[in-house]
Amino acid sequence: MNFYSLNKTAPIVSFKEAVINGIAPDKGLYFPESITPLPKDFFDNIEQLSNHEIAFQAIRQFVSDDINDEKLQQILDEVLDFDFPVVDISDNIAALELFHGPTLAFKDVGARFMARCLGHFSEGNSNEITVLVATSGDTGGAVANGFLGVKGVKVVILYPSGKVSDIQEKQLTTLGQNITALEVEGTFDDCQNMVKTAFLDKEIINKRQLTSANSINVARWLPQLFYYLFAYKQVKVDDIVFSIPSGNFGNICAGMIANQLGMPVKQFIAATNVNDVVPRFMETKNYEPKPSIATISNAMDVGDPSNFVRIRHIFKDDFKKLSEILSSYSFTDEETKHAMVELYNEYTYIADPHGAVGYLGLKKYLEDNPDSYGIFLETAHPVKFLDIVGDTIKENIEIPKKILKLMGKKKKSISIRKYDELKDFLLTK
Ligand SMILES: *Cc1c(COP(=O)(O)O)cnc(C)c1O
Repeated sequence: MNFYSLNKTAPIVSFKEAVINGIAPDKGLYFPESITPLPKDFFDNIEQLSNHEIAFQAIRQFVSDDINDEKLQQILDEVLDFDFPVVDISDNIAALELFHGPTLAFKDVGARFMARCLGHFSEGNSNEITVLVATSGDTGGAVANGFLGVKGVKVVILYPSGKVSDIQEKQLTTLGQNITALEVEGTFDDCQNMVKTAFLDKEIINKRQLTSANSINVARWLPQLFYYLFAYKQVKVDDIVFSIPSGNFGNICAGMIANQLGMPVKQFIAATNVNDVVPRFMETKNYEPKPSIATISNAMDVGDPSNFVRIRHIFKDDFKKLSEILSSYSFTDEETKHAMVELYNEYTYIADPHGAVGYLGLKKYLEDNPDSYGIFLETAHPVKFLDIVGDTIKENIEIPKKILKLMGKKKKSISIRKYDELKDFLLTK
């Protein structure tokens, strides 16, 4: 399958090139040339398929020109070695837990899949690929873990000093091997600006094959469609409402691809924190990006969600069609904490702040559609937001063994202040 740029002025490329480029030369996001629905009996008999088989059939059409079936099977075996349970909350509300992977964040699947694709593409290639990524917390850990030990790929992660949680910092800084953490004296925006500058720096790109690992990259974005199929397999209800806590809108957009593949969905809810560009768009039809505002659901502090153009493209920019399947609501930190307390007190469910935003979005929809059944996506393990969750529900949270082990490891990072130090690192190391 080929991929084209949504800005329409860059050449059409293979999956492999789309993964290596990350973003098209005209700065557009790549999009698959076609989406062929899966056969009806795939959905009729989905409960008889393993997660591995579901994922294989769902993603094969997008990657098969560049990854043969045997290799794809192997990649999926390695990527999908944990569970994605749907947990009942009440009669008509359930949580799809996506946090059982190695870094306890839903980004593990995409990061691992992308890492293995890039590793495969760099076999027999003498040019090392450098993955350069800025993180406000979760992306960095998932990327570091996913790419650890992948041959031919070097990973450089920039994170703002003192602004990620202790667990997140350990996940970034304790791995070694092909992973380097650069600790930036500044904010997440500073990290992101440095990364953007590096991608445009001729001296660097002439010498290094650079790529990014955020959800702009098709290999990180597309595998997220598996989650929706795994949920459907477990509940087998034909009109599920999915509520997705959204930041860059990659996850929800992947759900819409699952829908395009033929999976029945009643409604998608994009639940956001006060970074409400999309809820406002759905109300006013005006898309107005804004600087991001810091919240307790910080992985969703995004003022200009990059994947929203893909969503508009799926619906051919027809606002009416889009609004028939997408509802979007935003919530404050106070409301989010209140939801965490409610989930705990009424249902003994401990949610992280992101999942709680998803829960709120679903509840809001159910107010007007009380006969519906909905699933909200729980995108991070509550322990990753230990302080907030503990303070809010006034309860000690049990720390999983793999986290305790991690906390005992020694942090290794290189401290940098300005762009020249990043440049020097990329050119000389
Ligand atoms: C990244 C992230 C999100 C947002 O996902 P998008 O695909 O960017 O919309 C939500 N929750 C958590 C915990 C995340 O790490």
